[in-house]
Amino acid sequence: MRVALADDVDRFPPVVGDEGDPAALLVQRTTTFHDGLTIFVSTPTLAGGRIDTLYARSDQRRYVMTCPRCGYADWIAWNDPAHFRIAFDARDPATARLQCPDPERGGCGAGVSDPERRLMIVAAAARPDRGWRPTATAQEPGLIGFHLPAMLATLGSISANSLVAEWLSARQRGRESLRVFLNTRLAEGWEDRGVKIEPHTLLARREDYGEAVEVPAAAPALLCITLIHKFSQLNFYRRIFLINQLKCWSINLSMGAVFTATLSTKNKEVRD
Ligand SMILES: [Zn+2]
Repeated sequence: MRVALADDVDRFPPVVGDEGDPAALLVQRTTTFHDGLTIFVSTPTLAGGRIDTLYARSDQRRYVMTCPRCGYADWIAWNDPAHFRIAFDARDPATARLQCPDPERGGCGAGVSDPERRLMIVAAAARPDRGWRPTATAQEPGLIGFHLPAMLATLGSISANSLVAEWLSARQRGRESLRVFLNTRLAEGWEDRGVKIEPHTLLARREDYGEAVEVPAAAPALLCITLIHKFSQLNFYRRIFLINQLKCWSINLSMGAVFTATLSTKNKEVRD
């Protein structure tokens, strides 16, 4: 086939049977044509997901509009003051407007009403590039990406006011609602910050146990396992794995007035 359209690709399984990645299979089906085209469409789910990754590898086109007050041209973000953004006052959706960046960032700082926002979008579509401009160099030849957040809607009931009302409501209801807003309105992948561990926070928690603990020089890695039995009681097990001989030592460190440590030289077979 010459043109393949894959919709909702973030919900595609990673593999289909023993044939592999369904997205890659679809691309292969169009390679017999010199002008073959595969289109991937999706509401993003997770940051680093299928569509998020494809967009990051593309030329990352964004819809560039022109301010009717000052002629400043840019794309629209949700709350980034470096671009057009949706602003509002005192948690009041009725005050929602498109805000031009401040003069020091090249704009005029004026608020643009929602009917004017729609006219800006329509006017950009009349340009030869239909409004879309690349913001990156594609990592694969011919990989073109378009980001289409709800702020670019001109039809239906979506307005700056309705988006701000949804945003405020989602903030009140919590993480899952915020995630839905981010995915379906801002067209951005969700980054689960609750499980992301920054390396510098771990490094900052290093402690020196002095000479009470002996670590064999042959051990390549020291792992720490923490068991929480009660609210006030923490047990620490530190295990050193010697990978090449499939051996491990245990260092049991009990917490008390004085740290005590014992090094067991008991070998333990690690089986897979
Ligand atoms: Zn302006």
